[in-house]
Amino acid sequence: MIAPAVLTVDLEALAANYRLLEQVGGVPVHPVVKADGYGLGAAACAERLMREGARTFFVARTHEGERLRAALGGEPAIYVLDGCLAGRATRLREAGLRPVLNTEGQLAEWRAAGGGACGLQIDTGMNRLGFRPEAAPEPFEGLDLVLSHLACADDPSEPMNARQRDAFEAAAARYPGTVRSFANSGGVFLGSEYGFDASRPGICLYGGGPEGRPDARIRPVATFAAEVLQLRDVPAGESVGYSRGFIAGTPRRIATVAAGYADGVLRSYSPEGRVWVGGVLRPIVGRLSMDVCAVDVTGVEVAVGDAVELFGPDRMLDDAAAAAGTVAWELLTSVGARTPRIYIG
Ligand SMILES: *Cc1c(COP(=O)(O)O)cnc(C)c1O
Repeated sequence: MIAPAVLTVDLEALAANYRLLEQVGGVPVHPVVKADGYGLGAAACAERLMREGARTFFVARTHEGERLRAALGGEPAIYVLDGCLAGRATRLREAGLRPVLNTEGQLAEWRAAGGGACGLQIDTGMNRLGFRPEAAPEPFEGLDLVLSHLACADDPSEPMNARQRDAFEAAAARYPGTVRSFANSGGVFLGSEYGFDASRPGICLYGGGPEGRPDARIRPVATFAAEVLQLRDVPAGESVGYSRGFIAGTPRRIATVAAGYADGVLRSYSPEGRVWVGGVLRPIVGRLSMDVCAVDVTGVEVAVGDAVELFGPDRMLDDAAAAAGTVAWELLTSVGARTPRIYIG
């Protein structure tokens, strides 16, 4: 390993998830690669997905789009979900990016700079970004995609899903000839009536389940593993780590593992977090440090240099996230900038 903590990205599993999402949704997949591909590396992921046929991508920020354009070249369409912020139109145009316009102000900004290919976001209930349906603009030159975003796609029993779907269908009817994009990962699994013309998944591509828990159809893509740096026997009554966050009630064997909060191990991993070591799940104990965490490996056969899996095929991303009191999206995007990404598959 080039570093004692690495994020290994299985590009073949990414491709398999892409194919699954296309098959389940029944429409082309337009991958969301914002936040550097949910932390996995936007360029590497997008390149692999282009080999599967993807030709349209979504990012959040203008500079994310610029970087992706530089990596991918001129061919794919790249939409920017932030839209056209003040003073950004020229940059968007120069990089061949398509803003997803959210307000009249953005539309005016884009038009004033000459306009061109762009999308439009309709807010069907999220109250986050986009035009409310009743305030959506007249069709205009350059508009080639209309999208809306589900608020509760991870909960198929939520009645708001159908309300948003119907509101989107009605609003999008004003823009014939544009691509209608509605479903995120969860939406892809809500049924074919949520498909429209193209889906826009993120988390399921990267190994998260559509309902926030592991799903046997989705392959794990990212493995976050770190080496055991040192092993020690801690007598009863002694403490481990900062602020005596853990006190050994009985003699414990403690592994110091090369992953701390600077690598993206959230402090909330302790005390509920479990990591995969020596073929079993064991708890992180005490307070996380910047560079290391302590794992109770009492009774487990483990040696210095062995790998501990924080999430991956043996510790599913959604389970690891739940134990840390968060969601797969946050766990993936928290993996530290210093943690090397290694690509296989
Ligand atoms: C992040 C995002 C997505 C992808 O959502 P997932 O739940 O990760 O599939 C799709 N559309 C919009 C507008 C987003 O912000």
